[in-house]
Parts: sequence; C-alpha cells; structure tokens
Amino acid sequence: MSRFVVRKVAVLGAGVMGAQIAAHLVNVKVPVVLFDLGAKEGPKNGIVLKALDGLNKLKPSPIGVADDVALIEAANYDEHLDQLSGCDLVIEAIAERMDWKLDLYKKIAPHVAPHAIVASNTSGLSITQLAQALPASIVPRFCGIHFFNPPRYMALVELIATPTTGPEVLDQLETFVTTGLGKSVVRAKDTPNFIANRVGIAGMLATMVEAEKFGLAVDVVDDLTGKKMGRASSGTFRTADVVGLDTMAHVIKTMQDTLGPDKAGDPFYPHFATPKVLAGLIAKGALGQKTGAGFYRRVGKDILRLDPAKGDYVPSAGKAEPIVERMLKKPAAERLKLLRESSNPQAQFVWAILRDGFHYAAVHLEGIADCARDVDFAMRWGFGLKQGPFELWQEAGWKQVAQWIADDIAAGKALSNAPLPAWVTDGPVAANQGVHTPEGSWSPSRKRYVPRSTLPVYQRQPFPEAVLGSGAADPLRSGSELHRNDEVRVWTLDGEVAIASITAKLHLISPTVIEGLAKALEIAEAEFKGLVIWSPDDVFSAGANLESLMPVFMRSGSKGIAPEVKKLQDFMLRLRYAQVPVVSAMRGIALGGGCELALYSGRRVAHMETYVGLVEVGVGLVPAGGGLAAIARKAAEAAAAAPGTDLLAFIKEPFTAAAMAKVGTSAIESRQLGYLLDSDVVVPHKDELLTVALAQAKAMADSGWRAPHRRPIPVAGRNGIATIKASLVGLRDGGFASEHDFHIASLIADVVCGGEVDAGSLVSEEYLMALERRHFCSLLDHPKTQERIMGMLQTGKPVRN
Ligand code: NAD
Repeated sequence: MSRFVVRKVAVLGAGVMGAQIAAHLVNVKVPVVLFDLGAKEGPKNGIVLKALDGLNKLKPSPIGVADDVALIEAANYDEHLDQLSGCDLVIEAIAERMDWKLDLYKKIAPHVAPHAIVASNTSGLSITQLAQALPASIVPRFCGIHFFNPPRYMALVELIATPTTGPEVLDQLETFVTTGLGKSVVRAKDTPNFIANRVGIAGMLATMVEAEKFGLAVDVVDDLTGKKMGRASSGTFRTADVVGLDTMAHVIKTMQDTLGPDKAGDPFYPHFATPKVLAGLIAKGALGQKTGAGFYRRVGKDILRLDPAKGDYVPSAGKAEPIVERMLKKPAAERLKLLRESSNPQAQFVWAILRDGFHYAAVHLEGIADCARDVDFAMRWGFGLKQGPFELWQEAGWKQVAQWIADDIAAGKALSNAPLPAWVTDGPVAANQGVHTPEGSWSPSRKRYVPRSTLPVYQRQPFPEAVLGSGAADPLRSGSELHRNDEVRVWTLDGEVAIASITAKLHLISPTVIEGLAKALEIAEAEFKGLVIWSPDDVFSAGANLESLMPVFMRSGSKGIAPEVKKLQDFMLRLRYAQVPVVSAMRGIALGGGCELALYSGRRVAHMETYVGLVEVGVGLVPAGGGLAAIARKAAEAAAAAPGTDLLAFIKEPFTAAAMAKVGTSAIESRQLGYLLDSDVVVPHKDELLTVALAQAKAMADSGWRAPHRRPIPVAGRNGIATIKASLVGLRDGGFASEHDFHIASLIADVVCGGEVDAGSLVSEEYLMALERRHFCSLLDHPKTQERIMGMLQTGKPVRN
C-alpha cells in the first residue's frame, strides 16, 4: 500500500457534524478548510463563521483548546472552490438530501485534486448512488466515511466502499483515520444506514414502541436504558435530543424509503413509522438540544420531560425501580432470565428491548456486515454500549437466549415474526455457543469465523479493544512478569523496556503503589533500556489514596502522615533522576498524585483524551507529591531561558491552575496548563499509546538519555508571595473564594515562591518539597479540610466550605 499523505482536508458543510469534524482535525493537527454555502447577506463566509463561533459553546467541547478554532479556515462554494485542489481528502457533510449532495458533487468535481479521496459522511444514503454523480475520474476514490456525533468523542467511523471504489482507498483511509484521527474503524456494507445506525436506530424505535406498550415515561426509559444497562448515560430519548430530532427523523426516513416491502423488505418495517410524539415535536420546531427543547426541556436549572398525554413538559423525576436495578446488576445469564420472567413492567420492557435488539441484529447480520464483530464494535463505538448485542447474547448463553427469542416470536411478543436465521441454531455457531471465538467472529455470508483485519496499522495496537469470547490477550497477564505486588504489575512485552501497570482501583497512589513503582524502577535500571508506566484501562491515576492513609492519621495525626508524604516525594525525585528514561503513558485522568507521577517522569506520552490537573484543593489540601516544587522549578527554567523577564510572570499561570484545581480537558489543553511539555507526545488512538510510549523510551535510551542536572532553583520569595496574595484578597472579598480557599491558595503561593526568603534565593527541590509537606500536614489538621476530605470519601463530590 502506498502512503496516503494528508496535507490538508476539506470539509464540506459547516453544520452539526462538519464543524465538529473540522474541530477534531485541528485537535489532531491536520490543517482543514471548512466550506459551506455563500451567505446571502453579510460576509460571504457568514455561515461558516457562525458555525465556528458555535463550536466553543458546545458541550462537551469539540475542540481540545478553545483558541484553536481560529485554525479552521473558512470558505464558501462561491469564492473558494479552487482551494479544493490543495486538499488530499474531501469529507462531504452537508444536509442529508441525495439531490443536494449530488448537486454539490457536480459543483466540486472539476476542482478536486486528481489523487484526492472524496468521502461522504452521510448517515445512511446509498454511497453507490452518490458515486454516480461524480466524474469517472473520482469514482474509484469515492467512499463513505461515517463519523458519529460528537465526532471528537465517539470512537466509531464506518468506512463504506462502493463496487467501484479502488482497492487501496479504504486501506489508506482506514490507516489515516486510525492513527491520524484516533478513531476506530468498522467497514460496513453499502446498505441503508450502514451498521450502527441501522441496528441502533431500529433499537431506538423498538425502545419507543415498547415504552409505549409498557406505559413508561421518557425519563424512566432513559434511566433504564442508560448506564444501568451498560449503555451511554444519555439513555434513549436524551440521546435523540443530542443527535437532533430532525437528523433522527432523516435516518428513520431513509429506513422508510429504502426498507419497505417493495425495496429491501425489512421484516421489522411496520415499526419504522415515525413515532407520533417525534413527529409532533419536529412539527413544533422542538428539535432537541440545538433548539433548547425536544423530549426534554431545560428551564433554568430544572430539566423537564415531555408528557405526551398532556402535550406539555412536566418535572422529571422518573427512575428505575430498585428491584429492576438489582436485576440489572446480576451476571448476564441470571439477569436476562430474571428480567424475562418478572411480571414487573420495567423488567419486561428491558427484556423486550434486549430481545428485539438480538432478533434484529441476527436477522440482518448477513446483509449489513461482514461479521458479528463489526456489529458489536459498531454498537460499542457508535452508540456507547459497553457490549454489543451479540456479545451479551453469547455471554448470557447462546442457545438459551435463542430459545427465548424463538418462543417470544412464536407467542407473538416479538416485533416481527421473522424467524431467527438458520446459522443461529444450526452449525458452528450453535456448536460453539456463540458468534465470537478465538478463531474469529461469525460471518454468515462467508459461512465461517473470520479473523480481525491484518492491515499494518493494527500492528501498532498490541492490545486492541476486543469483543467478548474472542480470547483476546489480557495485558495484565501478557508478556513476561518481572515483579508483582497487590497494586502494581511489572512486566515486559519486548524484553527491552519494562512496563509498570498500576492495578489499584482508579490507580490511586498508595504506599503499596509507590513500593511497586520503586521496584519497577530498580528492575528497569538493572536490566532494561527504560520504564513505561502504562495501564490497559481508561485511567492513568486519579491521585493519592487518601483512604489508605486514614489508619495512620487516626493513630498518629498529621505527624504520622508526614513520613508517608516524604516517601512519596522521595520516590518522585528518584523517578526524575533515574538511570533510565521513564515514560508515563497517560490516558483518561491524571489528577493530583497521578499528575505528579507524570510530571516527574522523563517524558509523557498522552492520549488526546487525557484530563490532567493538580486538584488537591478540592479536598482542602495542597499538592505534596512534588507538584508545587515542579511549578517553581519549571518557572525558574522558563525565566532563565528568557533573560530580562520577571520570574513571577512564569509562576502566575501554573499557580492559578493549582489554586483553582484547573483540569486540562484534553492532552493539548493540559500542555497549555504546563502539565505536558512541547517535547511530550500526544497520541490520537488510545490503543496505540503503549506502542508509542515503548518507542519513545527506546529512542530516549538509544540517543544516550541522561537524567537532568540537579540545579539550584532561584525563587520569587516573599515579594512574590505578597504580590500573589494581594490578588487573592480581591477574590476572597468579592465572594469568589471562601476563607479556606484563600488560606490554601496562600499556602500554595508560599511553596511556588519558595517561602519567606529574598527574591532570587537559590533553593533545592528537597527544600520546596519540605514546604509542601509542612503545609499539607497543617491542612490535614484543619477542620475545614477534614470536612472536605470526609465529604469526598463519602459522596465523591467536592464540599465547598
Ligand atoms: P446540519 O443540518 O447541521 O448541517 C448541514 C449543512 O449543510 C448546513 O451547514 C447547511 O448550510 C449545508 N447545506 C444545506 N443545504 C445545502 C446544499 N444544498 N448544498 C450545500 N450545503 C448545504 O446537518 P448535520 O447534522 O451536520 O449532518 C450533515 C451530514 O452528516 C448529513 O449527511 C447527516 O446525515 C450526517 N450525519 C449527521 C449526524 C448527526 O448526529 N447530526 C451524525 C452522523 C452523520
């Protein structure tokens, strides 16, 4: 496969999707030009400019750093079509109308570069039909590229080839979308709505039908069909509001237009009518989140739900019943049995929607996807399900569940009387009790289990996300184990670099974790080129384990804690001055002590979605694992590199970040806050993190890496403290910070300025850490801090006092 170089991307359409796709391209450093129609009034780029303006108002934010929206170039079809010739990839994301898309293709075709890939983000129109509007020269380089909303956060991108798409095109695009954009690709057949929307929207419609049958309100349905079922927390109706009810109606319309008895003949077709409530809301212009009202409406701080009987919004308080909640926590086999046999309407509803989902996926698997894995991944990555339908079915007992579905079909309870396909009950799937096996996943069209893609890009994923039953290697049992304690596993994958994986809950840093990491360092120094701190799940470390220090605190108060804090600080210095490079492979959250662990590593390799901050203030403490000492040191280094500047200028921002417990909400924003350096590496795909971190550790070792020199640190001293404190007084007196916040912030100022010494005094890291320790311990004895800690341990939420 030749390399597909993407110098620049054109996104056509600055709507909900186009603007957010452009933002994501900026996040991963791909230059992008965003087109829309020329505005009839005002500046010609008006439509795009308005869309760009809207990007910073969206939550969760589509952009990693707010100011980077400015990097998206605005363009319109009247003036800037010539710019297309400089783009290697053109992503069309205009409104879901075949005729409009075809018109636009005619308009752009003469300007597209001869080598460029052109791809449509349509939610479900026929890619083959769209290709017909393109000149023969573009047709071999045309395909579908279906992102999910919100594109920064939803992992899935479906790629769809037409019969005329060139063989290399999808391989090239899949490689770029995976490594470059960090998305997870599923290849879909060119059938209406492809895989995820076909199964997912049919599932939402089935949910609406069954909810009506069992008389459940929208908030009850959302509570049941959200986290409690291992699905996206927004459940069903709230998800529809987020997607946009008009968009949802478009996808449903595609189903109605293309799946009727005269066309594809989907046996579930009678249930694809647009639900009356949905049609009613759309008619009123209530299109969900984008218009402020849909199935829900926010009024001030309250969220109201639609009561279709009243045709109005009422307070929302509906929840799953405790008995159903308990059933949902049982292991799969027991869970499904209890739900099915219960007479509770909520339980029956949950069984009904699961059964409908299994039934639908089984009937359609052969038509829409190559194999069952593609359906399960599409539902995980596109709809936020923890498990796809086939995985859950298999986990609960393949034959038993198949029998229940068949019984429900026979009893007229299922949504369609279409029988389960023969492959469900006869042949290898029945014999193996499922569609997923270590050999591969079942492909009804190929009549065998098919293995995963062997595209070279996947060699960058040593432990790719895997479906249940596929016998995927468990990273925590892989490689060669070098050492293990209760909370850390030290191992190696390649025999060259040691890996330390924290296994404690939320990877909280306890004395046991420190002991394990210290051992890892010792082993790495003795036998390996470097050490990578990496764990397979979505947390780097949520911070210090305060609970583990409780017994010591109860016994001997803060005096007993001080030596424990010192051990943590000593370890951080040990890490910084290690004899091998240490790379922190960060993903998910790196807070408090987790942030410090990363700060004291030789290098950081962070997944784009990493949330980093010194958040100790939230529990009434100051960072005391070297976080503040690092601020003072880095400020001194920055000031030294810019002679004539004031040291305090380099302290203020990181001081504010620590004093306000600011968290960088992406790796790139965390870099702006100073928690990552320019030399650190940001990785778009989470499953490539370990590979990149190992490569970095090796490259550092191979280039003769040495720990930094220990240098004395000039500090801002008492003048700096006074200046910072003066600015804090205003916040306190204005009611923006409590007295205790003021007190903690003053202590932070004390450390980052090096204490009550003359400006320019030279201090050591150990000295700064001793200040951290002293203030940390004094706060532990403070009743307001104790209130914050207890509140956090009991409720998980910060106490404001
Ligand atoms: P949208 O309505 O928010 O934006 C559509 C954009 O198309 C607008 O900026 C509009 O100015 C432009 N447009 C309208 N008519 C046009 C024309 N005749 N020629 C050129 N441009 C025109 O839509 P969206 O939600 O961003 O969807 C865009 C595409 O992405 C659709 O194909 C949709 O099915 C697909 N999609 C949407 C979602 C979603 O959740 N919204 C998810 C995945 C895919």
